Amino acid sequence: MLSATQLLENLLDRARGLTATETVDITAALGRVLAAPQISSLTVPPLDNSAMDGYAVRMVDVAQAGARLPVSQRILAGVVGESLLPGTAARIFTGAPVPPGADAVLMQEDCTADGEDVVINKLPRMGENIRRAGEDIKAGAQILAAGTRFGAAEMGLAASVGLASLPVFKRLKVACFFTGDELVTPGAHLAPGQIYNSNRYTLTGLINDLGCELIDLGIVPDTLEATEAMLARAAREADVVITSGGVSVGEADYVKAAVEKLGQVEMWKVAMKPGKPVVFGQVEHADFIGLPGNPVSAFVTFCLFVRPFLLKRMGVADVLYRAYAVQADFAWTRPGARREFLRASRQPDGKLALFPNQSSGVLTSCAWADGLVDLGIGETVQPGDWVRFIPFSELLA
Ligand code: AMP
Ligand code: MG
Repeated sequence: MLSATQLLENLLDRARGLTATETVDITAALGRVLAAPQISSLTVPPLDNSAMDGYAVRMVDVAQAGARLPVSQRILAGVVGESLLPGTAARIFTGAPVPPGADAVLMQEDCTADGEDVVINKLPRMGENIRRAGEDIKAGAQILAAGTRFGAAEMGLAASVGLASLPVFKRLKVACFFTGDELVTPGAHLAPGQIYNSNRYTLTGLINDLGCELIDLGIVPDTLEATEAMLARAAREADVVITSGGVSVGEADYVKAAVEKLGQVEMWKVAMKPGKPVVFGQVEHADFIGLPGNPVSAFVTFCLFVRPFLLKRMGVADVLYRAYAVQADFAWTRPGARREFLRASRQPDGKLALFPNQSSGVLTSCAWADGLVDLGIGETVQPGDWVRFIPFSELLA
């Protein structure tokens, strides 16, 4: 049996990053992966500017509280004022360039406007309320590294230096299908013995959230012929094929046999709960990953292993999740023979509660939880102990 750590290493070893790139308009960059580092040609902010609505002054003119200065100009955001006349103040607004000669901005709450004059009620500190040119970005600096995934902040950062289009990796094509004679699509009648195909919605949701191009091939019956035919089609259309179910060693489990017939396969039994068997292989030019059918196992193994694999395939540089030490508010007294990933949620006091039913069929636990407690082999927990917690913010999207 492989350890969970070895499984992740094996998968990442086999993940070849995409090389094909395209240029997209910045408005279409959300969720895409940057293919080349981006250097700023600009300094941001371009000029020293005011952090407040108030008055720009020379320090030498406001040596004492109560100083009264005539207001010699008004500077709004978007215009450049003139050099500040000695012995005067400039009315200034947030974001407006600080005029040459001024060395502090007083917020208007600390001043009293009196006709054409302003009275300074509080002495400023040197440089107060001035945002310095280049305090965010210097011209020539790298603002984004290759392999960065574009979230909202990265979009804004690229826009702040005027980038209108961006080189990104082509979208990774991921095909998926779901094996099981018992599966029915929501909307259709459920006969005795059948269940709804929940993995389709969990896994396609996860794949879509990563920004992959999804090819959803639906349900495949438990026969070798059907599995083989769908696998061949999926491998033609996609870079990566992902399936759920049919990877145990039951009589109706044909996934491994189909991959074996059409390509190469490695079967990995993983020493973890939930989710023992994971199948990896190649069919034509596509990578294949077969996940367990149990809904919680499929969800957890996708988050822990398939997500980093897909991210690396997409060209993302930083694909590993982090775990944090968090205090438990539960007891775990049955030491397991396998590493366990327990569905848990942070309470308002910051401590972790466990979902009461940790069975790999109970999908409610995943919707309820906000992360996974990572318990080592033989580990037990008492309330107040610190445990390894992987929040879903590290595992989803
Ligand atoms: P299998 O790995 O095919 O033996 O399936 C293991 C368990 O997961 C069985 O109880 C299946 O009914 C269930 N299962 C398999 N595929 C799905 C699916 N797509 N949605 C919900 N449950 C599934
Ligand atoms: Mg099955």
